[in-house]
Amino acid sequence: MMSGRPMVDAVVVGGGPAGLTAAIALAGAGVATALVAGRPRTTDNRTTALLMGSVTALKTLGVWQRCQANAAPLRVMRIVDDTGRLLRAPEVRFEADEIGLQAFGYNIENRYLIAAMLELACEIAALEVIREDATRVTVGADAVTITLESGETVVARLAVGADGRRSACRKAAGIETERWSYPQSALTLTLRHSRPHHDISTEFHRPRGPFTLVPLPGQRSSLVFVSEPDEAARLKALPDVELAAAIEQHAHSILGKIEVEPERGLFRLAVERARTLGAHRVALVGEAGHVIPPIGAQGLNLGLRDAATIGELVATAHRQGHDPGANDLTSRYAQMRRADVTGRTLAVDLLNRSLLSEFLPLQGARGLGLTLLQHIGPLRRAAMREGVAPAAAQPRLMRGEAL
Ligand SMILES: Cc1cc2nc3c(=O)[nH]c(=O)nc-3n(C[C@H](O)[C@H](O)[C@H](O)COP(=O)(O)OP(=O)(O)OC[C@H]3O[C@@H](n4cnc5c(N)ncnc54)[C@H](O)[C@@H]3O)c2cc1C
Repeated sequence: MMSGRPMVDAVVVGGGPAGLTAAIALAGAGVATALVAGRPRTTDNRTTALLMGSVTALKTLGVWQRCQANAAPLRVMRIVDDTGRLLRAPEVRFEADEIGLQAFGYNIENRYLIAAMLELACEIAALEVIREDATRVTVGADAVTITLESGETVVARLAVGADGRRSACRKAAGIETERWSYPQSALTLTLRHSRPHHDISTEFHRPRGPFTLVPLPGQRSSLVFVSEPDEAARLKALPDVELAAAIEQHAHSILGKIEVEPERGLFRLAVERARTLGAHRVALVGEAGHVIPPIGAQGLNLGLRDAATIGELVATAHRQGHDPGANDLTSRYAQMRRADVTGRTLAVDLLNRSLLSEFLPLQGARGLGLTLLQHIGPLRRAAMREGVAPAAAQPRLMRGEAL
C-alpha cells in the first residue's frame, strides 16, 4: 500500500508522558519523528511526583516552563509507620536542604503535564503529531510499519514503543514480559484541606499498603490510598462527605478538614517487566517496558530516563549518519537501562512485600532499615542523593545538557 508519507527516522507510538517526552527529545534534536499519539481519551486524574533529574530534563526540553505554575515543591518527605505492629519503625524524615537542594522535586497533576508536553510537541517542526491509534505494528528487516486507524501507514527506521501496559510494539518485537500482581489496588484523588501542607509529603505505611499525601499548589494535595481491592472499590463508591471523613481519619487529621474533588481513579497494583527494552528496530519506554507499584514515586521518573536515554542515543546516531534502528543501538539502549529498571523494581517490590508480610523477621528488617536511615546521617544523605539522581543512570537531559 502507498503510505503517502515520507519515511521517518523514528516513530513513537503512544502519547502518554513517556512517549511525548521521547518524541520531543528526538524531534528537538532534529531527528525526523512521527508521534502516533492515539485518540484523546479520558483525562488521567493522577499526579506525578517528578524528582529533580526529571524536572531538569523537562526544563531542558522546554516543557517545564509551560506547566511549572501548576506544580508544588517537595521539600520534605516523611515515612510514618502506621502498621500498629509489634516491630514498628521510627518516623523517617528526608529534608531536601540536608543535601543542599531546595526541593527533591515537584508534584504536578498529569493533565497539566501532558497538556504542556502536547502543546510543545505540536510546535516542533521535525515532529508530526498524529491523533490516531495504531492498529498494527509490523517489524521488518529495514523498517517498522505502523498502520493507523485510517488505513494509512507510517514507516520508520526505529519504533519507540510508549504504548503502555498492553504495548502492541512490544508484542510485534516478540518481547516477553514477566508479571506478578499484589492483592492491592490504589485509589487516587485530589483533595482540599484546611491546614497547610508546608511542602511536606507524607507516606503512612499501613498493613495493606501505603497511604500517601503529596502537596499540590495552595491547600490541595493528591492522595494515593493503597488497600485491598474490595476495600479500595468500596471507598471509591462512597459519597464525598463519607470518603472525606475516612481520609481525614487515616491521615490522623494532619491536614485538618478534608474536602474531596470530583474525579477518582482505581489502579490494580502489579509489577510487569519486559525481558528487554530493546530488540531489532524497537525500543520500549515507560510502562510498555516496566510497571511498578506507586510507592516512592518511581514509575514515570524511570520512564522519563528511558525517554532521555533513547533520545540521546538516536540523536548521536543521527549526527553520525547511522541507522537509528540498528541492532547495536537498540541493544545498547536495553543494556544502559537494565540496572536502573531492575534495581528500582526490586526495591519497590521488597518494600511493598515487607508491608504486606506477616513474617516477623521481614517486618523487623524493614523497621531496622528505616531506623538506620533515620539515625545515620551519611546513610540517609546517600539514600536521598541516589533517590534524586541515580548514580547508574543520569542521561544528558537529566544533567541539563541539550541533545
Ligand atoms: C496510582 C499511581 C500513582 C503514580 N504516581 C507516580 C508518581 O508520583 N511519580 C512517578 O514517577 N510515577 C508515578 N506513577 C507511575 C506513572 O503514572 C506511570 O509510570 C506513567 O503514567 C506511565 O506513562 P506512560 O507514558 O509510559 O504510559 P501511559 O500513560 O499508559 O501512556 C500510554 C499511552 O499509549 C496510548 N496507546 C496505547 N495503545 C496505543 C495504540 N495502539 N496506538 C496509539 N496509542 C496507544 C494510550 O492511549 C496512552 O496514552 C503512578 C502510577 C499509579 C498507578
